[in-house]
Amino acid sequence: MAIGQLHPVALAGVEPGDASLGFYVHVPFCAQRCGYCSFNTAALEAGAMARYLAALPRELDLLGDLPWARRVRIATVFFGGGTPSLLAPDELAAVLDRLRARFAVAPDAEVTVECNPESVARAKLEGYRAAGVNRLSLGVQALDDALLPRLGRLHDARGARAAFASAREAGFGNVSVDLMYGLPGLDADGFARAVEAVLGWAPAHLSAYALTLDAGSRWAAAGVAGLPPEEAVVEQYWRLARAAAARGFEHYEISNYARPGFRARHNLIYWRAAEYLAAGPGACGFVGGVRYANVRATPRWCETLEQGTLPVDASETLTPRQRLAERLILGLRTADGVPHAWLDERLAGDTPLRRRVDAWRARGLLGETGSGVRLSEEGFLLSDALFVELL
Ligand code: SF4
Repeated sequence: MAIGQLHPVALAGVEPGDASLGFYVHVPFCAQRCGYCSFNTAALEAGAMARYLAALPRELDLLGDLPWARRVRIATVFFGGGTPSLLAPDELAAVLDRLRARFAVAPDAEVTVECNPESVARAKLEGYRAAGVNRLSLGVQALDDALLPRLGRLHDARGARAAFASAREAGFGNVSVDLMYGLPGLDADGFARAVEAVLGWAPAHLSAYALTLDAGSRWAAAGVAGLPPEEAVVEQYWRLARAAAARGFEHYEISNYARPGFRARHNLIYWRAAEYLAAGPGACGFVGGVRYANVRATPRWCETLEQGTLPVDASETLTPRQRLAERLILGLRTADGVPHAWLDERLAGDTPLRRRVDAWRARGLLGETGSGVRLSEEGFLLSDALFVELL
């Protein structure tokens, strides 16, 4: 793997293998930072959003000037953060208009905006819809009014419910809700009540991630009291899996559940190890076998663009072996699994690993899909152990 500086001009030299790409836009601001969060985001300060919004179109222009940019089609756009719902509808519309001016965005492109409940109301969401947004991802995380402020969230349970209702009133049929489990002070019954409440709203999609104390978060640095034991976290995983199945959701990725026809198309690009461009501070893209990462610090990202240069900071070119491992690991995150041929290629000549994979099959953690293999729901739960082996 070659890791290092990628001269921005080098992005012109890579050739996308896919005709359709995803496009990720990172919005690096939040009203306040949550204790568990390690994302590239900071509390919004005066003037910062205006500078960011002046720089972002420059990045879209520079990416749009790449020699191959006109040959690809953008199939999905995802505004993530941070808190993209801090953007006013006209600000979001201007970004999307610039993207459409520079790239061929498919008429049926999935366009998602991550929203925090306290920052959305019906009028704003109607504006997003008019701008071309057709999917919302609502960061609810929990519905316990004692727990939410502890997490650093600014909404309460009622506000979360109201935000979901506003999304429906604004005409969004495709709304995803984010929940977290394994939270401090939240037992399995409390989590199950939140799951039932959210499923009762009838979202199209549900994402649920177990709390992890990632480096860069306040909780990782300072610790947090009241974390549930491992077996309680596992119980919460199963309570969710069963409740979602009972409501007709497909558990199509380790942490994601969808009603039929509502899988997250943008995230599927990641899990299929397919290609996507990215803009915004710290955003990572993957094109032509090259993974690149933008400058993380928002002021420096702005400066670079103000000087007329793509803010690419580093890149890695994956070796065929790394590419295969990545495809296996990402593909095995999904219910679609991976083709037999990929796993066979990885296991060729590695008898100890083949034996361990056979043991997974024997335990029912890995099963057949017809043309390939996939992890069972129990296998999803234990997947990290297998992924380490496949690297
Ligand atoms: S979890 Fe979301 S809202 Fe909280 S700090 Fe991180 S990006 Fe911002």
